[in-house]
Amino acid sequence: MKPGITTQLLHADRRQGAEHGAVHKPMHSAAAYQYNDVNDLCGVFQGTRAGFSYARQGTPTTAALEQKITLLEDGLGTVCFATGMAALTAVFTTMLRAGDHVVSSQYIFGNTNSLFLTLQQLGVEVTLVDATSADTVAAVLRPNTRLVFVETIANPGVQVADLHGIGELCRERQLLFVVDNTISTPYLFQPKSVGAGLVVNSLTKYIGGHGNAMGGAVTDVGGLDWTRYPNILDIYQTGDPSRWALTQLRKKGLRDQGATLAAEPAHRIAVGAETLTLRMERACANALMLAEWLNAQPLVARVNYPGLADHPQHEWARQWFRAGGKGGEPRFGALLSFELQAGLDCLQFLNYLQVLVLSTHLGDTRTLALPAAHTIYYEMGPARRAQMGIAESLIRISVGIEEPDDLLADLEQALQSLAKDAPA
Ligand SMILES: *Cc1c(COP(=O)(O)O)cnc(C)c1O
Repeated sequence: MKPGITTQLLHADRRQGAEHGAVHKPMHSAAAYQYNDVNDLCGVFQGTRAGFSYARQGTPTTAALEQKITLLEDGLGTVCFATGMAALTAVFTTMLRAGDHVVSSQYIFGNTNSLFLTLQQLGVEVTLVDATSADTVAAVLRPNTRLVFVETIANPGVQVADLHGIGELCRERQLLFVVDNTISTPYLFQPKSVGAGLVVNSLTKYIGGHGNAMGGAVTDVGGLDWTRYPNILDIYQTGDPSRWALTQLRKKGLRDQGATLAAEPAHRIAVGAETLTLRMERACANALMLAEWLNAQPLVARVNYPGLADHPQHEWARQWFRAGGKGGEPRFGALLSFELQAGLDCLQFLNYLQVLVLSTHLGDTRTLALPAAHTIYYEMGPARRAQMGIAESLIRISVGIEEPDDLLADLEQALQSLAKDAPA
């Protein structure tokens, strides 16, 4: 019997050959690696021998973390980066060329939206569409479309992309399907199951999980035949084609762009990842309870959460995200957003909170809250916010693992304080 994912994560380092019997992979801080035979050194550079050369391209510590992410995504291999944005930048700049066309969901992380503006300046065409329907994606495909990008569950509106429909479309048209799996995590959903080519995870969020280290990862989950993808450079078209994109990402993305994950954050992320499944179970259960409670409050106008029956993609979320079929309750993620009734001051409400932390970031053990339009989506302006379905008074909550009653009590006292302020 294949061990469960938590067991695999916990024992991965040990099974890879523990150094000096160490149960955790040690932190290797060396910048350079030596060989006694120069032929070995040459072989590492030429890719004919496994090993490390210069730490910008990887170390035993980052390699151990890459192996864990590969396990989580059931992939072929992973390249880690200093941040999630570095991972996304590496994907788009190494897999695309000027004149190529990208179709992206319009419901995306604010900095990814901003990165697309930079790509447009460099000659890549980008079309943003409502990716909750594969038909809208199909309608904007062009002969030069190379890549389709979605987030599984979008932040902060929690729209769920038509992952199955778009996966099928990309398979038919031989397009690279890139999925940002940060918000669902590979515990809730493996994009491999819908034919994704590359999967991006911000390790800063749920996988590291404790708000104490930044990192990002790109995993090849095998959905695309790279011999048919025009943007793999000739020099990387050698050996097993399933490794071509990973080699190009490591050389052109990591080595040349230099956003290397250092050993210490890699170690912190690896330790954090050991409890990913436990934290997700608790955080998702907390989030469902808070969403249902908020939804029943007269002062709350609207709650966005895929676990609520009125969410437009609720049925998909039930079926796709670690649904009952795997023996547990369906899980809908740990991110929700809501609006108060018109006339109530969302900023004042946030000031009344005492347990929830006023902070950006998500996927922390602690529950974090912020006004989305005033902070993470401020720079893009009201028109783009409206297109992304972000109300000006939207409050986003990244639900943590506290005891649920403490979170409920805090929200309740903040709503009561606000009600006292409101004119009768
Ligand atoms: C945070 C986030 C990123 C960027 O990750 P960093 O590690 O902060 O650079 C990318 N995509 C999504 C969906 C995110 O939430």
